[in-house]
Amino acid sequence: MAADAPSPRGDAVYLDHAAATPLRPEVAAAMQEAAGTAFANPSSPHAAGRRAHAALEDARERILAAIGCNTSGPHRDRLVFTSGATEANRLGVVGAAAGLSGCIAWSARDHSSVAAAAQDLVDQGWAATSLELDERGAVAAAGRFVEALPADGRAILCTTPVCGQTGICDWREPLPGWMRSHPRLLVHADATQAVGWAEVPFRDLAAMTIAFAPHKFGGPRGIGGLVVRSGIQIEPLVPGPQELGLRGGTEPTCLAVGFARAVELAVAERAETTQRLTRLRDLFESRLATAAAAAGLGLCVVGKTSDRAPHISTVAISGCDRQVIAMAADLAGVCLATGTACASGSSEPSPAVAALGMPAWVTHGAVRISFGRSTSEQDVLAASERLIAVFRGIATGGLHPAPRHR
Ligand code: PLP
Repeated sequence: MAADAPSPRGDAVYLDHAAATPLRPEVAAAMQEAAGTAFANPSSPHAAGRRAHAALEDARERILAAIGCNTSGPHRDRLVFTSGATEANRLGVVGAAAGLSGCIAWSARDHSSVAAAAQDLVDQGWAATSLELDERGAVAAAGRFVEALPADGRAILCTTPVCGQTGICDWREPLPGWMRSHPRLLVHADATQAVGWAEVPFRDLAAMTIAFAPHKFGGPRGIGGLVVRSGIQIEPLVPGPQELGLRGGTEPTCLAVGFARAVELAVAERAETTQRLTRLRDLFESRLATAAAAAGLGLCVVGKTSDRAPHISTVAISGCDRQVIAMAADLAGVCLATGTACASGSSEPSPAVAALGMPAWVTHGAVRISFGRSTSEQDVLAASERLIAVFRGIATGGLHPAPRHR
């Protein structure tokens, strides 16, 4: 393992970076400094409070600038700090809908926190549109939702630029044109797996709320953010004077400082990290493919021919159930996931994989392996070797009784 990646168990290889990444030393150092200089309540009017307030606002501006939003002028965007991406998704969807009626569209690509927020609006009487996925794993026909918008009410279109389960990218829809021609349309983007991996042209996209969280790219847990583009009105979920009235409660200045450092590093290193992890992901998948072919097993890499972010590989091996793989992999020294962390342990297959209409052995067998900045080639080689043994053991019935799916 690379030096800054703590090993969760002995020599276990950590390949669950889409769930959480190790805190980067540079980020920890920035937070440590802020803990000394900016510990006060940023709302306190005295000198120490003013120092904390300045550090908080500096972090906010740096994060907005790093992801290409406007930090000054009449079209200045806002960033609301939240507890993570789950809360940011809820604030972006439910907060934008407060007191209004309208229609909302989302898809199986979206994280469960987006789906849950959308479902709450539907329970309150909003019209729902479930967007289908095409065979590449992208939303098939969001244009139809936009074309059929009723003459009044708010319309919210949820989009996930990088799917948290499969890594499949989808941000090439003609969003700017739709936003221009439908002023009532608000796009909520869950960019949690995109920041640091995919270059999403937020600068060109106006009517948006954008959710993300730094623990996905070397930053601290316990903080996330919702960008509210200029001109968008939202209501707080927790009222209070902080965060421009959009989220009550004392702001976590040290976490915000760590967030800013993490996002700046992730964006600055994006090209290099993307190139390195694409190579490692391809190496991992080709090792698995060779071993599967030699053992006469079927291998499916979900989204193999789609545009994918480099850090996620979702794979299934014929005859292997995902829950059994996850347990056996853990015992063999590989930390991986059956799906997004909040759904781990669920007996239901991931909606994002199920929606692709693949054979049952893929839907029920797919596990998510995710790489990060601290992943080394040695990690990938060790993990693929261990996983190949796990797959062989399960498929031949020698390791665990695997539920069989045709
Ligand atoms: N959205 C996506 C796409 C995710 O992958 C995740 C977490 O895995 C979340 C939202 C939720 O993030 P958080 O754990 O910060 O609430």
